[in-house]
Amino acid sequence: MGTQLTLLWKLRPLVVTLSFFVHSRGFKQDTVKIFHRFFPVASKSLLATLEQHGIAYETFIDDRVCFDIPEGHPAWDAIVPFLKDAEPEGIPRTVFTKKELAAARFLRLEPSWHHGYPQPEDDYRRATYDLSECCEACGMGYTQNAPFRMKSEPKWGSKQVLQLNWVFDEFFSTPEAYRTVFQPLGIDSLPVIHHKTGRPLESVVQLKISTWTTTPIRGQKLNWETCAVCHRKKLTGDQSGMFPHVTLPAGSHLGWTREYIGSGLVAWHAVIISAALYRSLTEYGVKGVSFTVVE
Ligand SMILES: [Zn+2]
Repeated sequence: MGTQLTLLWKLRPLVVTLSFFVHSRGFKQDTVKIFHRFFPVASKSLLATLEQHGIAYETFIDDRVCFDIPEGHPAWDAIVPFLKDAEPEGIPRTVFTKKELAAARFLRLEPSWHHGYPQPEDDYRRATYDLSECCEACGMGYTQNAPFRMKSEPKWGSKQVLQLNWVFDEFFSTPEAYRTVFQPLGIDSLPVIHHKTGRPLESVVQLKISTWTTTPIRGQKLNWETCAVCHRKKLTGDQSGMFPHVTLPAGSHLGWTREYIGSGLVAWHAVIISAALYRSLTEYGVKGVSFTVVE
């Protein structure tokens, strides 16, 4: 994987968290807006410009800074000169209105934060997955066969759903949110193990995803990467706009795309939810998640 891509994927959790922060700072709007995430070199003059325009940022690896800015933002022109060494377009991300989200038949569930790391950090994949079908060159072909392990009870703050770092196709919730929102829709849960003692943690469960989308992802504008070793394909690149058309089986509310997403060594499935689960999550004000409309 190229350095730039490695950086992208490493930054992903931070960027997701950051964009949530930016949204909470008053850039809400009535129409679809496209945010771009940039991570140029953190020069003093760039930081001063960001601060002057009230744009939230975080410094990260390799002296780079990371921030989100919506198209049409008044600071856009002032910031462009600092992006020469960054991806020219940044990573585009579309923020949908409540009306659009409420009208969607299916949505992609995404985290608004990442919290903690699967244990043991140096070998969690072997501890959690059957990797007999997994290709080391592309990361595709894993199946969970043991509970996830965490270092301690999560520090939930005001949130009820989390995603672990590195594990982009699983979600975890508080037992209360599980009983209120997920269980009534027939979604099962799995225990999460305290790594040190081997006992189940009390304040977190894994949402058990056991269904798959019924239609393949198609679209002319999509980029596919074929693994040179196992020849399996994954959808690569970040897209703005809606997630490509997929459907879940009737009566299912939480499932994975059959396809993998990712780049280089990493691969995961997108998580798709039903309109009913979206309604329940918003009705109970569950925090820790964000949504993308499925075509
Ligand atoms: Zn492969």
